[in-house]
Amino acid sequence: MGLGDALRRKLEFYKHKHGECQNFDNGTCKAAHFTNLKANETACPHFKAKQKTGA
Ligand code: SF4
Repeated sequence: MGLGDALRRKLEFYKHKHGECQNFDNGTCKAAHFTNLKANETACPHFKAKQKTGA
């Protein structure tokens, strides 16, 4: 019990892309200082979902 959920949460980042991450800034990562990232490539474990700003 629970193991599947925990694992899914742990791997949640895998369903996202750098481009969806708060730390992504035009190809570079503000958190991990990676460069040459592509917005449509799979996110890393430090993925942080962008907050939707009020419209
Ligand atoms: S924190 Fe990870 S997912 Fe987010 S931009 Fe940096 S490398 Fe990509």
